[in-house]
Amino acid sequence: MDVTRRIGVIEDPRFQDHIEPTHHPEAAARLVAVGKALEAWRQDHPGSLTSLTPSEASDDDILLIHTEDHLRTVKAAAARGHGHLDADTFISPASYDVARLAAGSCVDLAMRIASGELDTGFAALRPPGHHAESRAAMGFCLFNSVAVAARALQQHAGIEKILIFDWDVHHGNGSQHSFESDPSILYMSTHQFPFYPGTGAAGESGLGMGLGSTFNVPMPQGCGDFEYLGVMQHLIAPVALEFDPDFILVSCGFDAHEADPLGSMNITANGFHAMTQIMQEVAESACGGRIAYVLEGGYSAQGLIEGTTSVLAALSEPQPESRLGSPLAIDAGSNLAAVVDAVRAVHSQNYTCIKSR
Ligand SMILES: [Zn+2]
Repeated sequence: MDVTRRIGVIEDPRFQDHIEPTHHPEAAARLVAVGKALEAWRQDHPGSLTSLTPSEASDDDILLIHTEDHLRTVKAAAARGHGHLDADTFISPASYDVARLAAGSCVDLAMRIASGELDTGFAALRPPGHHAESRAAMGFCLFNSVAVAARALQQHAGIEKILIFDWDVHHGNGSQHSFESDPSILYMSTHQFPFYPGTGAAGESGLGMGLGSTFNVPMPQGCGDFEYLGVMQHLIAPVALEFDPDFILVSCGFDAHEADPLGSMNITANGFHAMTQIMQEVAESACGGRIAYVLEGGYSAQGLIEGTTSVLAALSEPQPESRLGSPLAIDAGSNLAAVVDAVRAVHSQNYTCIKSR
């Protein structure tokens, strides 16, 4: 479909006010790198992005995911000044407000796409959110912005079925746990495994009524564009299309990039571009293209710049020929075969597209 998409971008200097301790990887400089990519894109493609000024999430929206106790804990910790909520998760005086701004940005972008004001968009925010549990901060994350946005879409926009696809190199334990009993929200994740935070085995596939609505694709370290593209074509896209969401949120970390100092994967700019094209194809087929990309991790400037540019390129370009028609061959004994077989074994009862293979 050769139609120019209206692309919203969230970017705000206040995200820099969440101040990291010396040498912490989740640094304000991350968004300087993303900002460079956005600025370069705007120079080359004037008028192609709609800038949105974010606002803080309401208590009511944050409490759709988090407990009142957690909200109070984060507020009180920030009021005390610089410190930590766990070994990895720092807090600074402005962090409570900044984390609310991150969640509010995500809600705002999603609502504008749901209303039809925008077609799609990218939120360059921090702190990240997908490790935050309902009652605890974790893994650099204070509030789970994507999870809050998913529930806000259901509450305020009448959206019923939501797909969260999390391609951050880490498993999004908080997002999984928020929705693992809920068949209306499918959480899919590709991640390095075994790795932090330890969750995300293929066998974690949802609970009770939510059986099948957690879809984990654990991948050994060293996987690159080939394996990710294969996983997208053989698992993520077909299952996403079978689920048939009304809206898609992408937890869009760039720490599976080959240059990332925390992850040990090898995605290149081309890989992120192809993965975004596939998600756009899924979104166009399932839900009129309603999809929002929200930054999670990503700790190398090069990875953040290339990742952001790749996503913007795929959102801006006309949709190419389908990338799903002739998927990559799966060679016996390969990493791709092992990953795909392990996931198929778990989900063959949950999805017809897997059962029929
Ligand atoms: Zn990560």
